[in-house]
Amino acid sequence: MRVLIVGGGVAGLAAARGLTAAGHDVQVYEAAPELRTEGGSVTIWPGAIGVLREFEVDMDGAGRRLETMENLSPGGRLRGKIDLSVAEREFGGLYAVHIARRELVGRLADGVRVDYGRRIAGVDPERAEITFADGTSVRGDVLIGADGRNSVVREALGGRPTRLNGWVTWQAFTTLPTEYTDDGRSMMVSDGRSLASLAPLGNGRMLWWFDLRAKPGGDFWAEAPGFMERMRKRFGRLPEPFPTLLEQAESMDFYPHHRHRVPSTWGKGPTTLIGDAAHTMSPAMAMGSGQALEDAWVLSRMADDLRGYERARAKNVRKVARMANLELPSRQGRLGGLASDARATRSFASLLRSASGYLQEEGTNRNRPAATAAVIR
Ligand SMILES: Cc1cc2nc3c(=O)[nH]c(=O)nc-3n(C[C@H](O)[C@H](O)[C@H](O)COP(=O)(O)OP(=O)(O)OC[C@H]3O[C@@H](n4cnc5c(N)ncnc54)[C@H](O)[C@@H]3O)c2cc1C
Repeated sequence: MRVLIVGGGVAGLAAARGLTAAGHDVQVYEAAPELRTEGGSVTIWPGAIGVLREFEVDMDGAGRRLETMENLSPGGRLRGKIDLSVAEREFGGLYAVHIARRELVGRLADGVRVDYGRRIAGVDPERAEITFADGTSVRGDVLIGADGRNSVVREALGGRPTRLNGWVTWQAFTTLPTEYTDDGRSMMVSDGRSLASLAPLGNGRMLWWFDLRAKPGGDFWAEAPGFMERMRKRFGRLPEPFPTLLEQAESMDFYPHHRHRVPSTWGKGPTTLIGDAAHTMSPAMAMGSGQALEDAWVLSRMADDLRGYERARAKNVRKVARMANLELPSRQGRLGGLASDARATRSFASLLRSASGYLQEEGTNRNRPAATAAVIR
């Protein structure tokens, strides 16, 4: 089948790889003039690593494998630790990795046919037809909207827009050497009203961020004169390295969190959606890209049954989106660390399994050969 994909982000590129491997003739149209290299970094959990392996994405040396997640009190006491190597063993060597978005997208794009600088202005979902901003149009057998949170394909399908959920992320990268920059530890500190977190990217780089409640026009909504001073005042007494990072930072990037009601099917005729276009969710549980990869994995096997694909994904992704929207890492406060490390580790592994259709599928991982390409630092 001739498959047209609108959007060359994680979802669109992954779907292109899967569908091409399944024997379809696939073309991606991306509005940006070239591969989009902006954006932060993302954590990819074991199920999504399994999908990347199925799609033969070369992850050799990509990002930084995560080994532990430390949970600290605002005073710096270690409340508990999740050992990700336990999940890695349970999932047959599939690991968790923190990776720059541009690196993930770059590796996914390898070998995919992408037409850059092609913004889609109109869509006829019943005919799988797209019209470009310059007025020309093209038609396929199947049309996939992978055009993110403000999807024009979703709009043409009559889908609902996303809404703010009241939380925001402020984030920045650093190359400042800290004990966290180059090992596999991530850290989170919650006071019950906000989260401070960091994750290593390898090569001396680290992403650090704050999740907190903020209203449009309020003090923490968008950067305005004196903003960094306000951040230092609010978060400057947290354990190191946050005070030092805040002292050195000149600016931070802002991302409001969105919620989105996930219907049981979201397409029409030969047209469907994938990734954030279908189910934008809060980044609180670091699941958005992983769920996009899981969409691509199911879709690549069900391109001839689009409603079946949507139903197969909706149940799982709705559960994940609801959970993400609770913003639990920010709210955990004193509750964090009540369970023993061993119990918290086991619970986290079951959470990863319940969020991943790939991990749930019978025989996944254990009966498959180890990932030859998945050699990591
Ligand atoms: C602060 C923050 C932290 C996050 N952290 C994580 C994390 O740790 N782990 C995780 O798994 N996820 C995380 N996410 C979520 C993740 O970034 C998204 O879920 C994921 O990028 C969605 O990919 P996508 O391809 O669906 O959409 P996008 O990445 O938005 O890609 C859509 C593409 O479509 C193109 N496009 C849009 N409109 C058009 C048009 N009209 N014509 C042609 N092209 C068009 C865009 O240019 C873009 O390239 C985070 C998100 C945020 C905001």
